[in-house]
Amino acid sequence: MSKLSQIRAYLNQEEANIAVFSDPVTVNYLTGFYCDPHERQMFLFVYTDDVPVLFVPALEVSRASAFLDFPVFGYQDAENPWKKIKTVLPTTESKKIFAEFDNLNVTKFQGLQTVFDGRFENLTPYVQRMRLIKSEDEIEKMMIAGNYADKAMQLGFDNISLDVTETDIIAQIEFGMKRQGISQMSFDTMVLTGNNAANPHGIPGTNKIENNALLLFDLGVVSNGYTSDMTRTVAVGQPDQFKRDIYQLCLEAQLTAQDFIKPGVTAAEVDEAARNVIEKAGYGDYFNHRLGHGLGMDVHEFPSIMAGNDMIIEEGMCFSVEPGIYIPGKVGVRIEDCGHVTKSGFEVFTKIPKELLYFEG
Ligand code: MN
Ligand code: MN
Repeated sequence: MSKLSQIRAYLNQEEANIAVFSDPVTVNYLTGFYCDPHERQMFLFVYTDDVPVLFVPALEVSRASAFLDFPVFGYQDAENPWKKIKTVLPTTESKKIFAEFDNLNVTKFQGLQTVFDGRFENLTPYVQRMRLIKSEDEIEKMMIAGNYADKAMQLGFDNISLDVTETDIIAQIEFGMKRQGISQMSFDTMVLTGNNAANPHGIPGTNKIENNALLLFDLGVVSNGYTSDMTRTVAVGQPDQFKRDIYQLCLEAQLTAQDFIKPGVTAAEVDEAARNVIEKAGYGDYFNHRLGHGLGMDVHEFPSIMAGNDMIIEEGMCFSVEPGIYIPGKVGVRIEDCGHVTKSGFEVFTKIPKELLYFEG
């Protein structure tokens, strides 16, 4: 069943006939067409009994109509979008209108209320559930995004030097990726040296790369609409034994959780598998975030891999496994891979080795 047919089936089941999508990522997920309307308005209207309608800023109409096989309407900046929407839709009559509440700001909500008379119901939970299980095609795209993340990480490694700063290395990574046709990173690339990596809220800056310390890279790219996300922590020079021990502990936690993942276990149990390793060694207080998060077209999706989440892990779910140990003033380590749940385990999208890698400063 196509994604739009799934939406129609859901509307039928809920005895509604209109769904309104406003999140550009959801519109891309459902139709393959991506547009960031910025402060302008964009909506996809899906009907049970009519063809869908995409409503976009006028400057997007030609690109959208060339791509989509259903009607596209636009509005000029000087036009009132809500009045225009009312004139182009096949009908605005429905007792219930399903809309993505998590994405509706007050302007959009009030505007849509002038278009429709019915009661608004929340479509966000259904969309999140749909996006939770990835198709083979989606997993293939995520593999490619993971492969690019490996390349970006390698670019970071190639630029390690005591003469440069965190932001120098970030510039080299992003420049190199753009040269390979990647226009967007999944989030602001992080390169954190020494004590800055020991701060879980560390922000890259003009710190020179420290010698005999650990260096943390957290990055990902967007490729074909799908994101990747990975973290590696490497040694520059010869970090002391304590730092190397903390690294090994974090790696053991990460591998333990990865080995534990299979259909049928819960998200909380996956988190616990990693956390137990770190807690037993006495560093539980320094692992102060959840183990992982789902990802797909957004870099943070469901499932959340954390204590208290009893969601059952299923084949096709994609998420990160990223334990971290941050001891302020001493050492910071995080190791992260994202992967997909297979019939019997977990296959990661990122392949750069995880034994502690050493670089000359
Ligand atoms: Mn992550
Ligand atoms: Mn990350």
